[in-house]
Parts: sequence; structure tokens; C-alpha cells
Amino acid sequence: MDEDIICIGCGAVLQSDDPQKAGYLPKSALEKAKNEENTDVYCQRCFKLRHYNEIMPVDLNNDDFLALLNSLAEKKALIVNVVDLFDFSNSLLSSLKRFVGNNDFILVGNKFDLFPKNSKQSKIKDWMRQEANRMGLYPKDIFLVSAKKKLNLESLISYINDQSQDKDVYFVGTTNVGKSTLINAIIDMMGDIQNLITTSRFPGTTLDQIEIPLENGHFLIDTPGIMTDNQLATHLNAKDLELISPKKPLKPATYQLLPGNTLFLAGLGRIDYLKGESTSFTIYVARNMYVHRTKTTNADAFYEKHKGELLAPPSPDDQMAPLKGKEFKTEFKSDLLFGGIGFVTVPKGCLVKTYTPDGIGLGIRRALI
Ligand code: GDP
Repeated sequence: MDEDIICIGCGAVLQSDDPQKAGYLPKSALEKAKNEENTDVYCQRCFKLRHYNEIMPVDLNNDDFLALLNSLAEKKALIVNVVDLFDFSNSLLSSLKRFVGNNDFILVGNKFDLFPKNSKQSKIKDWMRQEANRMGLYPKDIFLVSAKKKLNLESLISYINDQSQDKDVYFVGTTNVGKSTLINAIIDMMGDIQNLITTSRFPGTTLDQIEIPLENGHFLIDTPGIMTDNQLATHLNAKDLELISPKKPLKPATYQLLPGNTLFLAGLGRIDYLKGESTSFTIYVARNMYVHRTKTTNADAFYEKHKGELLAPPSPDDQMAPLKGKEFKTEFKSDLLFGGIGFVTVPKGCLVKTYTPDGIGLGIRRALI
């Protein structure tokens, strides 16, 4: 039988060429189905969703994603933008403001488990709201959660249950914010969903989104994660990404600095202290990230000599743009942001220049701690 077989879950044509694309089934399984003329077959994604309640990410290009967002404005929906608290400005979907329409929209800040233990939730939420507003987004509510540690998920789940009485719930976000981990955790905690997924014949997936049935007849819809060039994560290899991603709550490390000093955060971040008094900078990054202090006059040469070795990641095989800097003057105690890496707290009255590859993820906020 050489005809296409359709996945009975999502309707995609089964294929074994590209695991990232819809309808993927390993070659041996697809051939077996063809040989046995079996048409009762699920693609790998639907199979995993059905049997293990496990979401597999889907691939979608930006145009398709925009089309999907476009369709949201015409629907009645609750839109949930999942963001990475360690790469907030780059994981906030600025394009959402055109598509939210009259729908409610909330922000879910993930990876809260990494914030230092004494962080104030209210301060973090205030900062998120300000940043969102600056981009023309007005979230109705903000949640701080950890998908990995299952922190604060009950209140999010109960909100979703309340709000989805008359609408579907769409989860959107850029890649690597932890959206899949979060949805899997929600499925795990909402026993009802698990039941619905395992008992319904069709897991309710469609080609470009995964629809998870809610008890009230509406759906929780996982849209594909969108890739952006503004995330370090999209430029680093898996090993380096693992290295820079903090695993435990960030612990402060303090460095005494004078103007004319430079700090390197491995080979991915740099701070030049340009003007101010002798003072301490407090660094919040992954515990095993190498931090090096040197004189600013030597910094360029030091970087050229040691990048990819002492100052790694990035490793030589990462496609990384050269460091690009931006000046900031602190008008109050502030956090200098290095998206995806962490942040550095500096006192009021300092002039600094911060750098990352191509300036990705640089920013500043009023100190949270
Ligand atoms: P997605 O691309 O948005 O679906 O992201 P994933 O769910 O694949 O997660 C991306 C990375 O973030 C993985 O390394 C996860 O282990 C990690 N991650 C996800 N949620 C959390 C969390 O709550 N805390 C921490 N520390 N890491 C998380």
C-alpha cells in the first residue's frame, strides 16, 4: 500500500522524514503500518500525548505563527503569554498587542524557583507590568510560577478554570521559556485533563497546535514556541546552554570595583565600570559560570586572547556575534540585565557599559533585592 496514511489523532499525513514536523512516525513503525494496511495509527506526537500526557513541541515558521495569532483576535479566548523571568524582555511577545483584541491576556513568569530566596513577588510583578506596559501590553493578571518545581501552579490552574467557562485558553511564548514543561505540569496536576486525554479517542491535536480538553468543554491550547534571534538560547549549542542556565536559586557573589575595572561573565557578558566611587557589584548568575575581573584598558586584549577557553561559553563552534555594548547610568540601585544569563546589582550613581553578543538581552531595572 503506497497511499498516505493519516494520523487518526491530528489528521496529519504520516511521515518519517522530519521529527520536528507534523505527522512524524519513526520509519519502522510507518513501514509496519503500511505493510499491515493498518490505518488506525497515531503520529508520535499524538501517541505521546495520548499515552504519556506528554507534549512534544511543534515546529512552525514565523509567518504561520503570525497567522495563528491573527486568528486569535476573532475568537473568544484567554491568552496566556508564558515568559522566562531570566530573559523577560525577549520572551514577552510584543506582537501580541495587535492580536489580543478584546480578549483577556495574562502573563505567566516562569522559572521563579531561580530567583534568590529573599525576592519579593510584588516587586517582580511590578517590574513585569511596567515592562509590558512599555510595550503596549496590559496584562489582566500576572503569575509567578515554576513549572519545574511546581510552584504557585494551583492559583494559575484555578484562574484558568474560572476564566475558561466561556472560552478557550491559548498558551503562547517564545522557545525555551518552559512552556512545554508548564503545560505538562498543569496536565499532571489537573487530574481531570488526564482523564479526558486518556479516555477520548482523539487527543484533540491539530496540525499546528495541541488542544487539551478541559472539563468544561473548552480547550487549553498549546501553540508552537516561536524562535527569536533576540535570545541567547537560539545561538548557543545545547551543552553551553545547559552550562549557563542556573539550576538552583541564584546566590549573590560580590565584587569590589573601581572605575576602570571590567568584569567578564564567561565570554557572554561584560561590564565596564566607567564612572563612580569604589563600590561593590553583586552578581547573580549560574553558580558555575566563570567571572573574571580585569582592567578596562586590558579588557579587549584579554577577551581576544581567552574567548572560547577561559572565557567560555561560547565555545568556538557557537555562532556568536561579537560583543556589543550599551551605556547605563544608575539613578537608583539597579539590576543590570543580561538576558538568559542573570543580572548584576549596582548602587545608585554609577556609569557602566554592559555588553553581550550583539547586545542581546541587555537592559536595566530598579533593583529587585
Ligand atoms: P519551551 O521551549 O518553552 O517549551 O521550554 P521547555 O519546557 O522545553 O524548557 C526549556 C528549558 O527551561 C529546559 O531546560 C527546562 O528544564 C527549563 N525549565 C522549564 N521550566 C523551568 C522552571 O520552572 N525552572 C527552571 N529552573 N527551569 C525550567
